[in-house]
Amino acid sequence: MENCLFCKIVSGAIPAARVLETDSAIVIKDINPQAPVHLLAIPREHYAGIHEVPLTNKSFFDDLMRTVDEVVKKENLHSSGYRLVLNYGEKAGQSVDHIHVHILSGRTMHWPPG
Ligand code: 5GP
Ligand code: ZN
Repeated sequence: MENCLFCKIVSGAIPAARVLETDSAIVIKDINPQAPVHLLAIPREHYAGIHEVPLTNKSFFDDLMRTVDEVVKKENLHSSGYRLVLNYGEKAGQSVDHIHVHILSGRTMHWPPG
């Protein structure tokens, strides 16, 4: 997808600190971390949001969450806890229209989220 920041990061056109790569996704460090650990799981395929993923793409969400599972174990985040965030739409704070899961860890998380 032209002009998509995360497509450019996936392709390597824009550099990022890569923590994990799977066949279906990459995991990078967020450039503006909101917690001591702030990672982004980014699928290689471009979809603006979860509603754009067609029913025929049966493994998409499974692959994405498997990637999250893998990086959480690799970075040992499950021992202290972590939070997953998926913003959709401007009001929710989505600034990049390419699905990505935030993985936040390393501090106490508050509820309700802001
Ligand atoms: P959103 O606001 O769409 O839920 O999340 C986008 C995230 O991408 C933000 O947390 C922002 O800090 C991060 N981000 C924006 N541009 C870059 C970049 O060039 N590199 C990296 N690693 N993260 C970025
Ligand atoms: Zn994209």
